[in-house]
Amino acid sequence: MNFDHEDPHWIDWKWQQANSCKDYDTLSAWMASVESTPQVTSDQFNELIDRYKMGVTPYYFDLIQHFDDTDPIYRQIIPSLNELLVLEEELDDPIGDENPARGSRPLKALIHRYPNRVLLLPTAQCAVYCRFCFRKRLVGDPAHSAREEDLQAAYNYIEQHPEIKEVILTGGDPLTLGDHSLLAIFKRLEGIKHLQLIRIHTRLPVVNPCRLTPELGEVLAKLEKPVWVSSHFNHPLEITPIASKRINTWIRMGIPFLNQSVLLKGVNDSVSTLKALLMGLIEIKVKPYYLHQADMVQGTSHLRVPVERGLSILKELQGELPGYAIPHYVLDRPGGAGKIPLQNLYKSA
Ligand code: SF4
Repeated sequence: MNFDHEDPHWIDWKWQQANSCKDYDTLSAWMASVESTPQVTSDQFNELIDRYKMGVTPYYFDLIQHFDDTDPIYRQIIPSLNELLVLEEELDDPIGDENPARGSRPLKALIHRYPNRVLLLPTAQCAVYCRFCFRKRLVGDPAHSAREEDLQAAYNYIEQHPEIKEVILTGGDPLTLGDHSLLAIFKRLEGIKHLQLIRIHTRLPVVNPCRLTPELGEVLAKLEKPVWVSSHFNHPLEITPIASKRINTWIRMGIPFLNQSVLLKGVNDSVSTLKALLMGLIEIKVKPYYLHQADMVQGTSHLRVPVERGLSILKELQGELPGYAIPHYVLDRPGGAGKIPLQNLYKSA
């Protein structure tokens, strides 16, 4: 789509969210404007989004350069027929968010896998629906968003567990919530004495960076508990001037940023792409934290990279980048048994 970047709406995060592409007609119209057509028919598209919702902001769609599966942005966001292939070993809940044997999801809005930290899930809504998402079983479904009573139950749980030192807001994407809802959450968390840290996991800096408003940044910066933001950049094309500028505004206010990426076939599975991504992050003062081996989530085999390939890329990167630019390459064990660090393996690979 030939979007008008000069239109004041372009930098309005709510306009970006309200004008996301969620259906075939919009996708066809956006692609027609760049003389392209979707790679799937309307029926195929509907079959795909029956399984897993689609959504993409105008801003993120605008980063696509080639309107097919060869494009790293397109691959992350546009439904593909490959998703219909579900391997026997692929799972609905690949990292065991809700493993009943471990009791890791005691409440609708809370996951408690590690003793000293919990995930708080205030919303199931995202600004975009990444085709590789390990929570695709629940994201985009309003039935999975927390109601006020679910949040209150989660706050009570945290209060009753003094061993919990950190709350990680995730989802869904917490920054899709309006300021009013976010402020209510932060205010409640601020009041829990034994909590020491708040972390926000979000893709908004990548797919709708104008969400990082100075107003919200000021609120976060003024909280007594430190707030860390963990962004989710996967490709150097995502580090745009506007994303850099908005992140920089928050960093200058005193809000530190980490980044988690997922190793994805046809997106970032090369030394040159990962090197550009990791250097680009360091240049905008975002610390590369994790590089995740893609989870065994259903319908994503076309996006997964063999661990051996990941190890060999990481090994080559060792000599090419400063140590602090190299993320931990990790694999989440199925069933909720936690992460396996792979970095010791690439040192000897
Ligand atoms: S933004 Fe995060 S939670 Fe939402 S679909 Fe993408 S990876 Fe999943």
